[in-house]
Amino acid sequence: MNFAIEDSPEQSAFRAEVRAFLAQAVSPKLEHSVDPCDMSLEQYQLRRDLGRSLGAQGWLYPSMPKEYGGGDLSAEKVAILHDELSRIGLALPPYYDAGGRMSAPTILVWGTSEHKQRFLPPICRGEVRTWQLLSEPGAGSDLAGIKTTAIRDGDAYVVNGQKVFVGSSHGADYSWTIVVTDPKGERHQNLSWLMIPMTLPGITVTPMDLLATGGEGGSGSGVKNAVFFDNVRVPADHLIGGENNGWKVASTHLEVEHGGMGRLADRRVIYEFIELCRERRDGYAIADDPGARAELVELYIEAEITRLFALRNHWLAHTNQPRSYEGAQYSLRRKLSGLDISEKMLRIAGPCVLTKDKRWGPLRGTIEYFQRDAITALHPGATTDIQRVIMARRIGIGGREREKAGALR
Ligand SMILES: Cc1cc2nc3c(=O)[nH]c(=O)nc-3n(C[C@H](O)[C@H](O)[C@H](O)COP(=O)(O)OP(=O)(O)OC[C@H]3O[C@@H](n4cnc5c(N)ncnc54)[C@H](O)[C@@H]3O)c2cc1C
Repeated sequence: MNFAIEDSPEQSAFRAEVRAFLAQAVSPKLEHSVDPCDMSLEQYQLRRDLGRSLGAQGWLYPSMPKEYGGGDLSAEKVAILHDELSRIGLALPPYYDAGGRMSAPTILVWGTSEHKQRFLPPICRGEVRTWQLLSEPGAGSDLAGIKTTAIRDGDAYVVNGQKVFVGSSHGADYSWTIVVTDPKGERHQNLSWLMIPMTLPGITVTPMDLLATGGEGGSGSGVKNAVFFDNVRVPADHLIGGENNGWKVASTHLEVEHGGMGRLADRRVIYEFIELCRERRDGYAIADDPGARAELVELYIEAEITRLFALRNHWLAHTNQPRSYEGAQYSLRRKLSGLDISEKMLRIAGPCVLTKDKRWGPLRGTIEYFQRDAITALHPGATTDIQRVIMARRIGIGGREREKAGALR
């Protein structure tokens, strides 16, 4: 792996191309002058417009194959795209879309060629937005314990049940959903995945009354929802990965969600925070204080380690290297360091850092938002406890009762 900190001439040219593209494609209302907690419809629509512009270039999901609307780009070029969006306070994708981030790579592995042709191009071009539906009131960490059923009836599966903590503000076109297709079958061998159009009759979406979250780096997920399925008839050819083969499909999906492909995290808010601590006002800078300096150094190291884990996973995935524990390792690290960094920020700057006025005005409330995210981020995509369990198994120190969790290599 090349750890060079300067771009090669080819990378420089690509960076310039991306920067020029973003300069004309990104509305000034979207750039980092805006409030990151703003999940208004206008913000969402601007983000979707940008997604479609990126998608037209193959840059919305730039690692995906060109034949499905991706960009087939190298690891380095994908990293540059993330970098350039992060520089202006946005993420890739610029809105919450579990479809491109998790369903698409999973469909690439488990879908038939007909599934790939049908579902991947609209995702990669930014024409549709997809939520992931896994958790239920009685099944979060214990995903194999879900109860939502999908029973085959002629040319359809009839879905009944409830999912929780899913999605974002402003709805979705599809739900990538894990269901029980064999209620009498053995645990792990009774599950399947459906790509469910959200327009089908019998689906009800209800926002949940929770602490609002953002989703990583300007992807703006907003609220979480409960989704109810009441005799929803889903065309049978929307089942992906084979009937009752869903645990294996879930293993792929979860590995991507945990960060096995490398989630190039946006650490911009941390660097901006350090910048403001260096800034001298009325003859005083927070970084003048030796205690604050010591904490800032540790905060910087925390952020860098997480960033480098993400970059390492990104490279491993793009170069098809063998992997085992790296996704869980990154996820655990990211969750714990997010909490640690948010506590350090409060200690260094005091509660005034949560406000938008005076010294912290330029950060537009992003620190307050970071604090909230650090707390809620402990759960999505498996809790810290579960990431420890996965890590333990993958480094060969799992409990004696191993679940058939799907080998990675
Ligand atoms: C902000 C946010 C976004 C989310 N987005 C989505 C989404 O888009 N789609 C979706 O399907 N779900 C989503 N979720 C749900 C998330 O996946 C679950 O919260 C998570 O899997 C944990 O499940 P649970 O909340 O039911 O907790 P539980 O599974 O009930 O766990 C409760 C506690 O017990 C611990 N625990 C459980 N089992 C074990 C074990 N075997 N060993 C040690 N400790 C254990 C857990 O670590 C936790 O501390 C989201 C959650 C949040 C907070």
